[in-house]
Amino acid sequence: MQETKQETDAIRDARRQMEVCNACRYCESYCAVFPAMATRRDFTTGDLTHLANLCHSCKGCYHACQFAPPHPFEINIPATFAQIRQESYAEHAWPPAMGRLFERNGTVVTLAAALLTALVLIGTAAIQDPSVLYSPQTGPGAFYRIIPLWLMNLLAGSTFVFALVALAMGGIRYWRGTAGGAGRQVGLAPARDAAVDILTLRNLDGGGHGCNDVDDGFSKERRWLHHAMFYGFFLCFAATTTGAFYHHFLGWTSPHAFWSLPVQLGTWGGVLLCLGTAGLIRVKVVTDPGPVARHLMGGEYAILALLFLISATGLLLLAVRHTGAMGLLLAIHLGLVLAFFVALPYSKMVHGVYRSLALLRNAMEKRAARAA
Ligand code: SF4
Ligand code: SF4
Repeated sequence: MQETKQETDAIRDARRQMEVCNACRYCESYCAVFPAMATRRDFTTGDLTHLANLCHSCKGCYHACQFAPPHPFEINIPATFAQIRQESYAEHAWPPAMGRLFERNGTVVTLAAALLTALVLIGTAAIQDPSVLYSPQTGPGAFYRIIPLWLMNLLAGSTFVFALVALAMGGIRYWRGTAGGAGRQVGLAPARDAAVDILTLRNLDGGGHGCNDVDDGFSKERRWLHHAMFYGFFLCFAATTTGAFYHHFLGWTSPHAFWSLPVQLGTWGGVLLCLGTAGLIRVKVVTDPGPVARHLMGGEYAILALLFLISATGLLLLAVRHTGAMGLLLAIHLGLVLAFFVALPYSKMVHGVYRSLALLRNAMEKRAARAA
């Protein structure tokens, strides 16, 4: 397997820090990173990129570390690994030229949201009677009198499929670039181990006592907020899929009744997504800045804010769907959703793919070590 990652200052610094940690090993029980580190004597660029993506940025090792700044050793694993993760997102992005979008990522995501929302609003006013944006539309097919179904399907479908392809290509490039398989076959057992780690966010429990979400006190707040965002997102996705099934296979056209399955899935998903994203933004605002790579925060805030706006406009749309505000809100909501799909492979959201692959590689390594 080839290593494509260039040696950067962050990689060199991480290697220095891992050598100190490997001698110390105080944080061995905190997360998956330290046991994985302990199996290595040398740290290649691929190894360090893997360890950085395995890190869940819980900050536990920073607050526990006697060598953290202002100590001259300047051990700050969470901030250094955050920088390496960002470099890995840019390096393995697909198409490769798009990796540049990870520079000033907050601006990129914000511009995408503003531009696509404006385009959908202008486009709606151009192809329809502009009054649909402010006059009440009711009954079956009300949404499609504002934005035709074929156009919604074309815009959302093409951007979503592109995002999935770009994410998959990025994941493949990352796996190869970090020597992910290390010559081993991906088996069912490590895939199951990794799935449990992903679905439970086990590495955000700090070894049982929680993480240092805000300061040196222990908490599981970030873990629960991330769960709310993650499962809220999938409930919203399930709502859209169920609505499409109703439309295409049962002939039931939206808007659906409040107690229908798509509306209930979307409502609970939207509430969880709102709570999760707003809570995660709050944690980032109030957290101790010591272990944070502050220059990367713009992109993290932007994608969280975008997800919050998508869920908030979705819930508002439900509340006002029988009024004249529905048209405007639908256009804004669709613009934000399109911006999310377009930005998805070039935002913090890619951490879901890379961290999942890092957890898979970690599970493979652990099982191989047990079998040896
Ligand atoms: S982060 Fe600090 S305390 Fe933890 S293993 Fe490394 S050197 Fe030791
Ligand atoms: S920040 Fe947390 S997850 Fe990352 S290496 Fe330190 S203890 Fe592990």
